[in-house]
Amino acid sequence: MIEFGVHATSIGELDQAVTHCRACPRLVAWREEVARTKRAAFACQEYWGRPVPGFGPADAALAIIGLAPAAHGANRTGRMFTGDRSGDVLYAALYDVGLASQPTSTHAGDGLELFGVRITAPVRCAPPANKPTPAERDTCRQWLVRELELLAPTLRAIVVLGGFGWQATLSALAPAGWQVPRPRPRFGHGVEYDIDGLRLFGCYHVSQQNTFTGKLTPEMIKDVLRRAKSVARL
Ligand code: SF4
Repeated sequence: MIEFGVHATSIGELDQAVTHCRACPRLVAWREEVARTKRAAFACQEYWGRPVPGFGPADAALAIIGLAPAAHGANRTGRMFTGDRSGDVLYAALYDVGLASQPTSTHAGDGLELFGVRITAPVRCAPPANKPTPAERDTCRQWLVRELELLAPTLRAIVVLGGFGWQATLSALAPAGWQVPRPRPRFGHGVEYDIDGLRLFGCYHVSQQNTFTGKLTPEMIKDVLRRAKSVARL
């Protein structure tokens, strides 16, 4: 496996380093093609078109882990869950429970601040059809492992959005230093597990597929976030 990023000694350094990663040829080609061709509604905008770093303070007590940047969301704006419908739902919920300074996240530099929360993902480049391959997931893991190691001194809880992120997070926690039980805890909405002193919460992903169909309602997200906030002592 290619090794990179693992030597970053701070979250800031890690965030910088990840933006230069080109380890997955298929994803590099896709993220850059999307950035070139754009969606008509954003034709006059400059797309980010690079790996997306985590967003939120370096001493976060709560992490939120999704799947990967959206082609015309974070791959456009350069900030996790920013500029798409999934992000609209997530940031509104974070604001409602007192974890964000404003209910919307439209672009980097819009003044949004997260309170004790860091949002990140196991895959940092937008994948075609939102589906990274197992090899891409495994290649990108080292970024999440290092991020979790750097957050470890303050991290008390993680909310994982969706089953893909759940498996990827469990795979990253062990090399980051936590004892992950066997068999592995199973994903479900509203589940919570203690992983070696860290509380892991499951939440359905805030994808349109879930929020438009009512499988995941704003109240359901907020219930999980409130619980995680309390465990993280935020
Ligand atoms: S998905 Fe991760 S490992 Fe692959 S190119 Fe992007 S940042 Fe690098």
